[in-house]
Formats: sequence, C-alpha cells, structure tokens
Amino acid sequence: MIEIVPFGDVDHGLLRDLCAELKKIFGDCRIGEALPVPEDSYNPRRGQHDSMYFLRLIGDRAKTSKADKLIGVTDKDLYTANLNFIFGQAEINGRACVISLRRLDPRFYGMKEDYSLLRERTVKEAVHELGHCLGLRHCPNKSCVMVFSNSIIEVDRKTRNFCESCNDINKEIQAH
Ligand SMILES: [Zn+2]
Ligand SMILES: [Zn+2]
Repeated sequence: MIEIVPFGDVDHGLLRDLCAELKKIFGDCRIGEALPVPEDSYNPRRGQHDSMYFLRLIGDRAKTSKADKLIGVTDKDLYTANLNFIFGQAEINGRACVISLRRLDPRFYGMKEDYSLLRERTVKEAVHELGHCLGLRHCPNKSCVMVFSNSIIEVDRKTRNFCESCNDINKEIQAH
C-alpha cells in the first residue's frame, strides 16, 4: 500500500486524484494525516526548502505506518545539495520519497492555470519517485516514467508508464 503524506496545506482535490491514479498503478493507496512543513528546511538564501528534512519526517512516519511506501507531497520549492531544484527525491529501495508541486504547476512558468496538466505531471513524478523506492534507477528511454527529467519539457515528454524493460526489472524485484 502507498501512503500519501501531505505537507501543510496541499490541494485536497489533487491529492484525491493522485491517490486514485496510484491505486490503479500500485494496487492500493490512502491519504495519511498531513505533517507540518519542516521549518528548518527553509534556506532563505535560496528561497527554497531542503528536501532532506521532508524525507526525514516521512521516514519517521514510516516507522508507525503500515504502508509499504510513503510519498510526501508539498507545494514548496525543493532543492538538494548539488541541484538547483528537484521535482522530487527518493530513497532507492527505501520506503520514503517526496515530490514538489511548485514547478509542476503551469503557473510557475507564467502559463494559465491548467488542472489536468498539473494532475498528469503530478502522477508522472509520483510514479517516478515511487519507482525509485521500488528499486528502479534512471532509464534512458525518453518516454519511460523512469527517465531523469531536468526540466518541465522533459516531464511533459515522458509518459506515466514504466517501459518494458523497467517493468521487467520491477517484476524481477517484486518476485524476490
Ligand atoms: Zn529520478
Ligand atoms: Zn524504463
């Protein structure tokens, strides 16, 4: 089972839609109780939040959660050590991952509000990070959900699906 962990005030309709899609892909999903945005995560110099603080809180939640994998969702802009920004981050083979909605929202790029585009991007990034939690690494196939995306154009180019080879690896991992 997948547990969605909202940080602070996240659009509940979007979380519900995400949960419904993750249910189709991974079998079961529920929305857990929200956690506060970790205060110490904010870096005023960058105007962004350090994703490690979010992963740590999800790791704490994991200790008492019955879910196999837990995915944090925040509308804060996330970064990690050597990257300008990240759409999300995961522990490979772990239980915790996090995604940021900030740069998935068309409005971030000065475009008009587009809920269905935001929802599709959110599903793609959630499946990508949960794929890492399942043990998958980045894939060279540009349409595979496990391709590394560094820009929103690359997010839009990929699909929400695992390619055949990632699917095979996934089955292999699950069988062990
Ligand atoms: Zn990745
Ligand atoms: Zn792939």
